[in-house]
Amino acid sequence: MAAKSKKKSAAKKKPVRAKSKPAKLARAAKGGRPAGTDPKRVAAILAKLDEAYPDATCELKHQNAFQLLISTILSAQCTDVRVNQVAETLYKKYPDPKAFAYATPSELEQDIRPTGFFRNKTRSVMGASTAIIEKFGGEVPRTMEEILTLPGVARKTGNVVLGTAYGIASGVVVDTHVIRLSNRLDLTRNEDPKKIEQDLMQVIPKEKWIQFSHQLIWHGRRVCHARKPKCIECNMERLCYAKDKTV
Ligand code: SF4
Repeated sequence: MAAKSKKKSAAKKKPVRAKSKPAKLARAAKGGRPAGTDPKRVAAILAKLDEAYPDATCELKHQNAFQLLISTILSAQCTDVRVNQVAETLYKKYPDPKAFAYATPSELEQDIRPTGFFRNKTRSVMGASTAIIEKFGGEVPRTMEEILTLPGVARKTGNVVLGTAYGIASGVVVDTHVIRLSNRLDLTRNEDPKKIEQDLMQVIPKEKWIQFSHQLIWHGRRVCHARKPKCIECNMERLCYAKDKTV
């Protein structure tokens, strides 16, 4: 009898242990990383990106950090190709921060008009140039904290300039391509760029932040398009379980 009651009590304990695992998983899903961020899977994604885009870099043409800053401001809601066209003549006419800071606003507006939102962009470009002269001795600052004080500059622009012009990994560039692709690849389950950047900074090794941003943007432009991703051409197809995959 004693042996039977021991067996019974052991059998009763089992469901208690079985319940604890899903509870733990639920906590991880709620506050932790999404399932797709297993380090081995992330490493495989990074290897595939290296394989496909070993030389990915910023596609905005520039000769120095200041030009890259201005071109990045101009690239909001505009293609890099269009910005590069405008930049060709723009930097000849306005060669340094002083030239932009003391420009005639209505003239500068016309010079950058093809990039769209030209009034706002003129304010940002002139404001950033003035601040660079007055607060930073004519040089684009090298920290995120300082660069964010420039008018018209948010984290995306800060990351582009610090990463590409100075090689400083201050975060991950989160543009429209990175938002879409990091969700498709299940590296984040957020839509807010700030949260996405935090998620990516958690799972991507810091030494890869700069290159990863370029590679994801290149992949978004060339293969993983918003409407019809060319999954048949994608070397990450086996790693990807996006709902809108086309194969
Ligand atoms: S398989 Fe398709 S959806 Fe997934 S990353 Fe590649 S192109 Fe994008």
